[in-house]
Amino acid sequence: MIGDVLDRLREELPQGVDVVAVSKYFPADSIREAYAAGQRMFGESRVQELLVKRNELPDDIQWHFIGHLQTNKVRLIAPFVSLIHAVDSEHLLEEISRQGERCGRVIPCLLQLHVAQEETKFGFTPGECIAMLEKGEWRLMTGAQIAGVMCMASNTDDERQIEAEFGLVRKTFETIRLRFFADNDAFRHCSWGMSGDYPIAVRTGATLVRIGSMIFRA
Ligand SMILES: *Cc1c(COP(=O)(O)O)cnc(C)c1O
Repeated sequence: MIGDVLDRLREELPQGVDVVAVSKYFPADSIREAYAAGQRMFGESRVQELLVKRNELPDDIQWHFIGHLQTNKVRLIAPFVSLIHAVDSEHLLEEISRQGERCGRVIPCLLQLHVAQEETKFGFTPGECIAMLEKGEWRLMTGAQIAGVMCMASNTDDERQIEAEFGLVRKTFETIRLRFFADNDAFRHCSWGMSGDYPIAVRTGATLVRIGSMIFRA
């Protein structure tokens, strides 16, 4: 059952690691079941699906947007989204800030780093990310708060490969924190690890693991 899996996960995860229950493609009833077991953070990757679910589910759910976000859809989720995980361009960050300002909010965002071998994955390379931060435009974006980094590992069974990718992102997180956020505790989230690789994520310093099928196929 969904509640049992969540209980086991919470027991297994160390202090400081939180579960984002990735509910994309799973029905509202499954989310209600997880909610009844105390889960409040849920992750969705499609704007329309998120809007429909938000309408029919409790108001105190913290909705995380974890998928690739198109700039023209930011305004639809800006009034309520708790955390946008996959900011993959300065242009998107700018639009999030603009929409945050419009709603009187500062929207927490994570910068997506591309470290996987697949060509198709979105995100900044570590070098691109640091170069973007160096430019400093983000300091003027008062409707968005850069709150950490996010990544997806290569789709492989090679655990050493996955561990190396997560490790590189953790190292980049530390570099960015020292260089740009030394005086800012808001920069604190490391989002990586899914059903198949979350134990590796925990070993490499994740603070948010995004777990879907393991919870909702229970
Ligand atoms: C679907 C998804 C997950 C969860 O994957 P599971 O294997 O179902 O745990 C995590 N992160 C992102 C970005 C996803 O799209």
